[in-house]
Amino acid sequence: MAKLIDPFNRNIQYVRLSVTDRCDFRCAYCMPKQFKGFAEPEHWLSFDEIERVIAAFGELGVSRIRITGGEPLVRRNLPQLAARLSNLAGIDDLSLSTNASQLARHAQALKQGGVSRINVSLDSLKPERFHSITKHGKLDKVIEGLMAAKEVGFYPIKINMVAMKGVNDDEIEDMVEFCLEHDFTLRLIETMPMGNTGRDAVDHYLDLQELKASLEKKFELIPAVMPGGGPARYVQVRGTHLRIGFITPISQHFCATCNRVRLSVEGTIYLCLGQEDKFELRPLLRQGISDDGLKEAIVQAIALKPERHEFREKPDQVIRFMSMTGG
Ligand code: SAM
Repeated sequence: MAKLIDPFNRNIQYVRLSVTDRCDFRCAYCMPKQFKGFAEPEHWLSFDEIERVIAAFGELGVSRIRITGGEPLVRRNLPQLAARLSNLAGIDDLSLSTNASQLARHAQALKQGGVSRINVSLDSLKPERFHSITKHGKLDKVIEGLMAAKEVGFYPIKINMVAMKGVNDDEIEDMVEFCLEHDFTLRLIETMPMGNTGRDAVDHYLDLQELKASLEKKFELIPAVMPGGGPARYVQVRGTHLRIGFITPISQHFCATCNRVRLSVEGTIYLCLGQEDKFELRPLLRQGISDDGLKEAIVQAIALKPERHEFREKPDQVIRFMSMTGG
């Protein structure tokens, strides 16, 4: 079986696939409220092009794909793309990250299309605060989407909460209770300095090591594992099913075990969330590259993967917003 090994001997098995850079929310730490610099639709990879690239990754040993964005459910007919990707040889785990604003409508089709796992971003359970963080988001729609995903049998459903000092840090215990009640997994995320928005949000940076210590005063936390092989470090609340993951790119980075790359909607492979290293596939696809040539191009791209991000040392470095890279 082919393998993609990067210069630091990491085996790349995971692609985060952005199907759009557009979003119906404008989360304060992600995209500026008046942002207009979206990718041109003619630059978007078509479903045929995406399927071709993901098939090539599959032949090179990638087995996990996460569909993301922007907000993936604003891309028309997304469940059809999911169904095409889940049928590709070698791809045995297809997951989706969403803000859930349109999940109620699509949950069933996504499940039928072979999406196995769903992560939902949810930073607040207070409707007004949720609206203020997301600028456009309606909490009741998100909750409806979450319940629809549960209803059609997605499990586990992970809630991604960006934990921000002075913004939503007073709600962490409420979120723990909410996840306990609904049997969701909770993942707490540190803000990353991506684009101006991300850098401004760093004013609200919350060190999750400290947060974990304070949660330990209220809940008995024991070490836990979670299938998925992602960057979160998990604990379980003793006596319950609830697992809480801490994603700590800043206070304790996990680059040594990074097994992923990102493919943007424009067909750019980004080798690291926190560095500018990239490889453009779209021109090659549109010039009619062969399947073997495409695989060679992917191997060349992986050779560019840097050792690690430098969010701490060079917080001004990344000019892309998360929504442009694919979060
Ligand atoms: N729209 C989808 C969603 O809401 O999950 C997928 C894309 S979104 C960019 C992916 C994740 O990135 C979300 O959980 C969001 O909270 C997170 N995110 C965006 N900008 C961030 C930043 N500067 N720091 C930390 N997380 C960020």
